[in-house]
Amino acid sequence: MGLVNVFELLSGEYETVSYAHDPASGLRAIIAVYSTALGPALGGTRFYPFATEEAALRDVLRLAKAMAYKASAAGLDIGGGKAVVIGDPRTDKTPDLLHAYGRAVERLGGAYITTADVGTSTADMNVIAEATRFVTGTSAGSGDPSRVTSYGVWHGMKAVAEELWGEPSLAGRHVAVQGVGKVGAGVVRHLMSEGAQVTLADVDAGCVSDLASETGAEVVPAEEILAVPCDILAPCALGAVVNDATLPSLKCRAIAGAANNQLERPEHGDALTEAGILYAPDYVINAGGLINVEDELHGYDEQRALAKAAAIADRLRLVFARARSEGISTATAADRIAGDRIRAASQR
Ligand code: NAD
Repeated sequence: MGLVNVFELLSGEYETVSYAHDPASGLRAIIAVYSTALGPALGGTRFYPFATEEAALRDVLRLAKAMAYKASAAGLDIGGGKAVVIGDPRTDKTPDLLHAYGRAVERLGGAYITTADVGTSTADMNVIAEATRFVTGTSAGSGDPSRVTSYGVWHGMKAVAEELWGEPSLAGRHVAVQGVGKVGAGVVRHLMSEGAQVTLADVDAGCVSDLASETGAEVVPAEEILAVPCDILAPCALGAVVNDATLPSLKCRAIAGAANNQLERPEHGDALTEAGILYAPDYVINAGGLINVEDELHGYDEQRALAKAAAIADRLRLVFARARSEGISTATAADRIAGDRIRAASQR
């Protein structure tokens, strides 16, 4: 097994990386705190059978930075962090292990606050909460964030409409929604309530027919949705939907949806700009989930969380203005805005 040159991987950016180890329960976890300049580093715990420790480390570093940027771009006063537990959540996730993990989080003294992610659930957060104060997303907390995420995406689309057509109304605009699960279905309902024309697709036929009969939205096969001629394409299913293969077939004026990591590679952000497609950076428009869980730190209030999610439109306006003034893609503009805010807070 090769040793990982950790400091090289940190490239001067991360505050701390902690390895938590408990032989009795089999815990092997890595907690990465990208920054606490804006506030405590909030981010989920991913429980996953990483093939190597290096793969786990690389993933936790990437995800911690992404959380920091998402929080910063949303204007939240929290930093970015993430944790990975190496193991199979179906067989290795025991109460003893979760307690040992909770104690490791507690020892960080609040620099890192955890929540659920891939491989962990609200029920797991309840167990972790028996060992640490620094946990959100328990059943006593804010619950499923999808409602707030959908609301934020809808408001983000309004900022897109304003940028492209001079007014925020989506009435009469044609939106193609890929994936109508927890977030996508909410987005469709908001759009229909405002008088938008919606085309939707999902690989789950059950989701599609229920929502189509409820809302009257048009349905196309899943493999056709990305090429539907429309005003806004809303990816609400998978990542990497913007790639070399899909780019030539996109027939939208804008991309604005909930899915994480919509660009397969960073340069696809520039490619969208060159193609005349306005991109609402994914981590800005889908910040409602983070906003929801962050609100727990102040004693959860759903109305306040929804109001903060509506302000995603303002954050996108900043992104679009910076992209215009600097002649850069919206993806790069979002990164600059997020990075600048963290750096400015670090220097205080
Ligand atoms: P979900 O699992 O409830 O819904 C995803 C839907 O996409 C499912 O109905 C699935 O059948 C469908 N789907 C999968 N592959 C598809 C394909 N090729 N074509 C069309 N449909 C397809 O998930 P969700 O919670 O609604 O999240 C959707 C996306 O938004 C994910 O990328 C997620 O990471 C991201 N996101 C979610 C939240 C949240 O609050 N839930 C917050 C931020 C980001």
